[in-house]
Amino acid sequence: MLAAMTMPDSAFPHLFAPLDLGFCALPNRVLMGSMHTGLEDHARDFGKLAEYFAARARGGVGLMVTGGFSPNVAGWLKPFSSRLSSRWQVAPHRRITDAVHAAGGRICLQILHAGRYGYHPLSVAPSRIKSPITPFTPRALSDSGVERTIRAFARCAGLARDAGYDGVEIMGSEGYLINQFLAERSNRRTDRWGGSADNRMRFPVEIVRRVREAVGQDFIIIYRLSMLDLVERAQAWDEIVALARQVEAAGATLINTGIGWHEARIPTIVTSVPRAGFTWVTRRMKEHVRIPLVTTNRINMPEVAESVLARGDADMVSMARPLLADPAWAAKARAGRAAAINPCIACNQACLDHVFENRRASCLMNPRACFETELVATPARQARRYAVVGAGPAGLTAAITLAQRGHAVALYEQADAIGGQFNLARRIPGKEEYDEPMRYWNHMLAELGVEVHLGARADAGMLQARQFDAVIVATGVTPRDPRIPGQDHPMVLDYHDAVAGDREIGRRVAIVGAGGIGFDVAEFLTQPSPSPTTDIARWTREWGVDTSFAHRGGLDKPEIEPSPREVWLLQRTPGRPGRRLNKTTGWVHRAALKDKGVKMLGGVTYERIDDTGLHVTIEGEPQTLAVDNVVICAGQVSNRTLADELEALGITVHVIGGADVAAELDAKRAIRQATALADAL
Ligand code: NAP
Ligand code: SF4
Repeated sequence: MLAAMTMPDSAFPHLFAPLDLGFCALPNRVLMGSMHTGLEDHARDFGKLAEYFAARARGGVGLMVTGGFSPNVAGWLKPFSSRLSSRWQVAPHRRITDAVHAAGGRICLQILHAGRYGYHPLSVAPSRIKSPITPFTPRALSDSGVERTIRAFARCAGLARDAGYDGVEIMGSEGYLINQFLAERSNRRTDRWGGSADNRMRFPVEIVRRVREAVGQDFIIIYRLSMLDLVERAQAWDEIVALARQVEAAGATLINTGIGWHEARIPTIVTSVPRAGFTWVTRRMKEHVRIPLVTTNRINMPEVAESVLARGDADMVSMARPLLADPAWAAKARAGRAAAINPCIACNQACLDHVFENRRASCLMNPRACFETELVATPARQARRYAVVGAGPAGLTAAITLAQRGHAVALYEQADAIGGQFNLARRIPGKEEYDEPMRYWNHMLAELGVEVHLGARADAGMLQARQFDAVIVATGVTPRDPRIPGQDHPMVLDYHDAVAGDREIGRRVAIVGAGGIGFDVAEFLTQPSPSPTTDIARWTREWGVDTSFAHRGGLDKPEIEPSPREVWLLQRTPGRPGRRLNKTTGWVHRAALKDKGVKMLGGVTYERIDDTGLHVTIEGEPQTLAVDNVVICAGQVSNRTLADELEALGITVHVIGGADVAAELDAKRAIRQATALADAL
């Protein structure tokens, strides 16, 4: 049934080989994985959701999966969140399925019952055990309650079919209800739904069987199977294999891979997870089932996807965030234009962090994601000449967007390379992914014929002489002066110098300032060289992932590689540093630095720096940190000098990015602001 046919003329022959599912053939091996966007919760937003998916369908994705829809009220993720359980809810979905089909795509609806992860008082679970990440204790389902829940899954699938979907994905991983039935940690039942492994897997197998009965044979059923729970008292490998076989026998069309419960303390998707770092587990499953397997997590570029497929780890790759970043990902890869793909850097800043803050998801690299009907670029009515000064994320986005709209653009950057703060970020171990935006931006500048001047400090006189219609000032920031007595001591360096690698840094280091950059510098100083972040075997050992599956849940004792330095990470604000880091990534940074023995201290007053080190007062106690170096990461101030000079000359100026608001030096804000400005000019 699985087509072995490849496309020899493509640079990615495995990726663009069709996949025959028997009753239908997918054009390629790209699955757009489920991701909640916040647009699923109200039918009034389905027009926006329709255009979001239609754009990806036009971009050549083989098959897409919606964000999760609950099959009943108890399965809500949060009160009144997305649900498909009644006939009156079907019609609005037609907007989505019609738009996708008109664009030549296929789409499945994900059925997700949150179980004890439901953020509401009506949540249910196999047993009355609260999850560590939600405040509500679930009610234990009765035997008839379990039966009703299975019927709700089947009904939801039938309604999805009526709504025009090509299939459903049954969410059986990430610690949601189905996964909760499978693991002893959340299932203490003694009836036919708990106890033995056979009893624990009865719930998902029955769901797949009844869904197949409800939808007929010519409808895709993807089962998202937790192949690696990454929590204690979870499934053993032989149980996972047995489940996969039973799910196949019960009528699944495809098995997708799920990695890690939401309560797991091992990162699974953030930037520092090595690319394709978990496809080995899908590979382990291959010999046990005959239906196609989909693999996932940290696959973002076509060459990564191709190598995963070429070495036989899976039959298809699932990507969600990379398709937020670039809706035309597949079409570009297929057309030999992979260099033009706008990359996902796995930062989570505008996608998952937004979802956790109850905001609409988008993408740091592509602010049009989920705003396809609102943030729209149109060809310029009249081509104009613009100068953009500063080639950080804001300036680059403005230059590229203006050029895409048909304007003539000259871009000036005083450094020898583009990238601004991203050029520093990419030197941080675990942020190697930040190389990709450089590739993308450089490619787009060349493709669009932007006049690029590197190593060129643009002054007001020159800009005036060239008579641009307007100047976009994206000159970024300069480091804030913390005014610590003795800060001109040779042991002191700023974060640029620390990260650039031109200066020798001693074995004992204090970092002044514990914002995002202080944390980055701490990671830079505490990682052994070479860093394990791109080496899957070293990374899995360091985080305690058991690839031999000797233990339930795939957990092992972490083997931390010792830090080459002793590091203090300091802030004046009382309390533990790192509270303001982003929701879905901050805990990974804090855990990584704790493992490296970094001393994170708040409530620090900086007294002075001299030959003996950094003198501080903490909770009224004077102390001397006898360090070899002090690195200043005390935030930034806007660099607006040029903007002020241009305004004085009467030139039309638009200030964007850090030059506009340094306090929020933040690529997400900068790129969105630059996009909106460039759309409007
Ligand atoms: P930041 O997050 O604003 O942190 C600045 C740090 O400097 C704070 O810890 C602050 O703490 C301290 N500080 C401020 N004024 C000071 C002074 N006068 N003397 C001594 N210390 C002072 O700025 P950042 O670290 O430069 O990061 C900038 C932005 O880059 C972030 O907002 C983020 O968007 C982005 N970024 C994020 C990440 C990430 O999330 N991993 C990584 C890199 C960059 P006290 O005032 O308490 O001392
Ligand atoms: Fe990827 Fe970051 Fe965009 Fe999310 S916000 S899709 S992680 S680049």
